[in-house]
Amino acid sequence: MKSAVFIERDGFLVNHVIENGNERTPYKVEEMEVNLSILPHLQEIQKAGLLVIATTNQPGIANGDLSRRELELMHTILKRKLPVDQFLFCPHAEADDCPCRKPRPGQFREATFEHRLDINHSYVVSDRWQDAAAAQAVGITSMMIESSKNGNGHRDFVLPSLEEAVAKILHLHAHQAELFVH
Ligand SMILES: [Zn+2]
Repeated sequence: MKSAVFIERDGFLVNHVIENGNERTPYKVEEMEVNLSILPHLQEIQKAGLLVIATTNQPGIANGDLSRRELELMHTILKRKLPVDQFLFCPHAEADDCPCRKPRPGQFREATFEHRLDINHSYVVSDRWQDAAAAQAVGITSMMIESSKNGNGHRDFVLPSLEEAVAKILHLHAHQAELFVH
């Protein structure tokens, strides 16, 4: 069975757009700034045999700020620039009460089913409590990067940087493989 690292798209693969001092997601391809500094970390994850799966809530689709076509185009461009195996997103607004909007784990469930993932040996990297909550709901290990968006809920690890989170994942993954052999 394969393991995966789920990573929040916004703020990790794509930089936030700053508007009036607030962070928001890009609505147009021209607004999308790819975070190329993440490239070597994603390569390391894939080299260790784990899938890289990007997830994101995009309520702009439900609200009319973002078209589905534009979002798909962004993901096509991102796939060319970064080693990501799959992009998943929730197109709904909070009021839609859907199962795929994080903190609900629908996006993680979908990927788990599709790739037959070993969910107990998969990881979530994010700086938002919604990802940690969704991870906990399905038994994925959460790696929170320290930020004001962490919240106070359950999380498995809090790390100061993405680099350290990836190092921790690779360590845990190697150790798990070792245990499996014995
Ligand atoms: Zn949804």
